Amino acid sequence: MSDPYRRLAARLGEEAQLDARLAPFTAIGIGGRAALLVIPRRRESLVRLLGEVREAGLPLYFFGGLTNVLLPDEGLRGVVMLNRVRGHRFDGTVLRVESGEMIAPLARRTARHALEGLAWAVSVPGTIGGALVGNAGAYGGEIGPLVEEATLLSPQGEVVAVDGRWFDFAYRRSRLKGSGEGWTILSAVLRLRPAAREAVEAALNRYVEHRRRTQPRGRTLGSTFKNPPGDYAGRLIDAAGLKGLRRGGIVVSEKHANFFINEGGGTAADYLALMREVQERVMERFGLWLEPEIEIIDAAAEVAARGR
Ligand SMILES: Cc1cc2nc3c(=O)[nH]c(=O)nc-3n(C[C@H](O)[C@H](O)[C@H](O)COP(=O)(O)OP(=O)(O)OC[C@H]3O[C@@H](n4cnc5c(N)ncnc54)[C@H](O)[C@@H]3O)c2cc1C
Repeated sequence: MSDPYRRLAARLGEEAQLDARLAPFTAIGIGGRAALLVIPRRRESLVRLLGEVREAGLPLYFFGGLTNVLLPDEGLRGVVMLNRVRGHRFDGTVLRVESGEMIAPLARRTARHALEGLAWAVSVPGTIGGALVGNAGAYGGEIGPLVEEATLLSPQGEVVAVDGRWFDFAYRRSRLKGSGEGWTILSAVLRLRPAAREAVEAALNRYVEHRRRTQPRGRTLGSTFKNPPGDYAGRLIDAAGLKGLRRGGIVVSEKHANFFINEGGGTAADYLALMREVQERVMERFGLWLEPEIEIIDAAAEVAARGR
């Protein structure tokens, strides 16, 4: 057996899937195949699998919920790891959480514990790990300021504890976003604040209701572009008359112009073409270049950058 992916798959057994389709695992329903797909559900197996991949010298692509990345149509020649390591504990005002835990149900649970600080995340899809990398936020809240400490696996495979400042959080960024350095977040400690349970519940309901009114359903990556200082990407796209603009199966939502929807059969090439068209037309109209909020995974570049 000369193919290194087959050799690794044989060693990993049931945990590994060769030549796996990625699109069904993504929020937008786009992406080719992975040479090898692994989905660890416990921290020990995640650490062990990362070690195995490093030892085999194969390129690694590590993701959480795949809700903020556009995967290439040609797929990824490497090992794709999807983090499903769950578990959390409320301890006074502190929340200890594994990085593969989904953030939205956790936000809802803060009401039961009468804690405020995370309610904004009630409709944000994806994992805690992904939220830390992109400093996820909504309604004036974001995760960065809540992070007291985190446990990471270094690119060399050592377990390292860091405090929140290590991440250099900024608007929808941290030092890990797109860095390609190969750090893996294993868990985080979030510091919340005591609050009246009813007030937290009211905030949760308000945010859910607001989303229902203002954001489309369907296959999407959420906001495609960052909001420029003092304005909203969605407002600019709408004002440029681009709602409903389409490339292949991807269309600018009529409900929220910063959301692109995969109406069926959309590809990464369609998505990128639509992004480009929107950037150019907003530039023509307002003299402003919209920067992507989503992460665009380029197969060739990523292999070179992230080969651990
Ligand atoms: C409908 C919809 C609404 C959304 N609304 C919002 C919103 O209001 N606010 C907001 O901020 N975002 C929003 N998003 C974007 C997205 O939900 C967030 O960015 C989310 O935090 C991404 O998490 P994920 O687990 O899906 O990350 P992924 O998309 O899987 O990965 C994103 C990046 O993080 C890295 N990564 C993931 N986990 C780890 C880890 N454990 N260690 C190291 N690196 C890791 C990946 O390598 C990748 O580079 C929305 C998306 C959708 C589809």
